Amino acid sequence: MRKLVAIAALLSLLAACHPVMEVSSPDGRILVQADVDSDGQPLYAVEVDGLPLIGWSQLGLVAEGIDLSAGFRLLSSKVSQCDSLWHQPWGENKEIRDAHRTLMLRLQNEADVRLDIEFRVFDDGLGFRYTYEVPALDSLTVREEKTSFVFADDATSWSIPGDINSYEHLYRKMPLSQLKDANTPLTLRFSDTRYASVHEAAIVDFPEMVLRRTDGTTLQATLASEASVPQHFATPWRTVQIARNAVGLVNSSLILNLNEPCALADVSWIKPMKYVGVWWGMHLGIESWGGAHHGATTETALRYIDFAAANNIQGVLFEGWNDAWRGSDALPDFDFTRAAPDFDVERVVAYAREKGIEYISHNETGGNFRRFEAQLERSLDWAQTLGIHALKTGYAGGGLYGGIARHSQTGVRHFQKVIEEAAKRQIMVDAHEVIKPSGLRRTWPNFMTRECARGMEYNGWSAGNPPAHHEILPYTRLLAGPMDYTPGVFDVLYCQIQGLPQVRSWGQPGTECRVNTTLAKQIANWVVLYSPMQMACDLLDNYEGHPAFQFFRDFDADCDASEALQGEVGEYIAVVRRAGDRFFYGATTDETPRTLTQPLSFLRPGVTYTATLYADAPDADWQTNPYAYVIEQRTVTSNDTLTLPLAASGGCAISFLPL
Ligand code: CA
Repeated sequence: MRKLVAIAALLSLLAACHPVMEVSSPDGRILVQADVDSDGQPLYAVEVDGLPLIGWSQLGLVAEGIDLSAGFRLLSSKVSQCDSLWHQPWGENKEIRDAHRTLMLRLQNEADVRLDIEFRVFDDGLGFRYTYEVPALDSLTVREEKTSFVFADDATSWSIPGDINSYEHLYRKMPLSQLKDANTPLTLRFSDTRYASVHEAAIVDFPEMVLRRTDGTTLQATLASEASVPQHFATPWRTVQIARNAVGLVNSSLILNLNEPCALADVSWIKPMKYVGVWWGMHLGIESWGGAHHGATTETALRYIDFAAANNIQGVLFEGWNDAWRGSDALPDFDFTRAAPDFDVERVVAYAREKGIEYISHNETGGNFRRFEAQLERSLDWAQTLGIHALKTGYAGGGLYGGIARHSQTGVRHFQKVIEEAAKRQIMVDAHEVIKPSGLRRTWPNFMTRECARGMEYNGWSAGNPPAHHEILPYTRLLAGPMDYTPGVFDVLYCQIQGLPQVRSWGQPGTECRVNTTLAKQIANWVVLYSPMQMACDLLDNYEGHPAFQFFRDFDADCDASEALQGEVGEYIAVVRRAGDRFFYGATTDETPRTLTQPLSFLRPGVTYTATLYADAPDADWQTNPYAYVIEQRTVTSNDTLTLPLAASGGCAISFLPL
């Protein structure tokens, strides 16, 4: 016994000689600790409000032929801090505060490998990344990552599977302790109402990270592919956003704060926009990308441009404008500069310019990124010469051409190349089926928006997106960045109205043939589901003369500031965005009808506003009466509180215009 006490005393003496390194958030509530164990393995742990969130967890990478994860000894550790404001040309918030403390560890192992581990701790979470220098090698292959997240408690989780080829999955709500794997952002709610979301920031020249549960509540970082790296390289940031309520996650700027400043000298050509386009008809199966029933004809294009010009809409998308994609795997010869025979691209672009409308081009690659890359510079030169400033890209299919994982380092390199080549030619990009957002829009603000989740298209040809999908997205996928969900189907029971067969040519068994919300929720989604390119996706006939379309006419996609006001993951959300002196509010709910009490304290004090409410009618219900809506006007100030009833899968949108 005496011997044991002596050993314990010796151990505590050793521990005292080698204190754990630590850094806290500026508000002191989040504490990150770091250590190196007896095998030279770096470790970290996280506490929130004095309670463990993440227990001691491993750090580092594993590479071929050289050990990057163990045998390290600490050379130095340093704590520093930063508090600054920075601005972006567009975003949920144009002004962002970056207040954090840094813990920088410098390590070295016997193979002369240098490893810097940098922790940045903010009031809304933390990020850390590895910078390696391997003098013995010119380049190396990273095989796997050892980073783990040993959560101290079980939690309720919301995530999609850890698929490295697609994010277009339904979300699963399950205990963390039952999760097999997950892509990120993975959102967690702990029983003590702390919230966390695991993701990554600044995915540059590196595969994505997915999470695999190894044991209990421990998640292990797994890379989507190997990574070929030079002898001196840095990884993306591994991030954990932390909040005391669900909307706290939504209001976090942590992902953007961990990205590099803007790489472009001139951003004056980058402008948020509302848009309409030739698109939904293809997903309904009443128009096509080419051949019979071709949607993007010159005549249709001119009508869309006229509609946009008459309705305060800045852009028009033309899917199927080129003679290429036919909506199947049987891909004919692609040329990204060759228009379909019935689409006079020069005339349409010129007409759009004359009307002050942005022409949004579209290149569907069918996943054949090699062919697109081979034509990339030539086709972007062509677009620039024509005066095109916006491009939507698509990579439909299970993965990338040649069996390459979509989220691999190869995929990441391709998607980044498109952004950088587009920027050289002043072209904004809306990318579908690419790598998930990681805040790179700060560095490359021409990367406006992307898909990377199940969007509206699934309501055209599958069982559709269930009601709660829209109240999960803001707390999961949208934490990573904007989404081109393409909301705004007014004709929610479209088969009834269009006289479409219940199962169309490409409809699958179980196809619902409807959108699973009320009309008012579609309007509210324009505010809730943030995108700097925000689409009104329905057929123009469904907007012409519709009183509720006034909300989209008034709506401004170029907001200055945003705040998520109240909500719960998968249940409901209320968001307000300010654009100049006007405010736009959106609230939505899942299958459960609920009444929100909404103080208007976000309005400017002393200013009187005309509030126009687009709300569910008292008898509205997404299943039985989705079209029942009311438009109401009230005069309000910041001292008022509104009571807002939301129907089952319903919503409410409000525009506040100063009197
Ligand atoms: Ca898609």
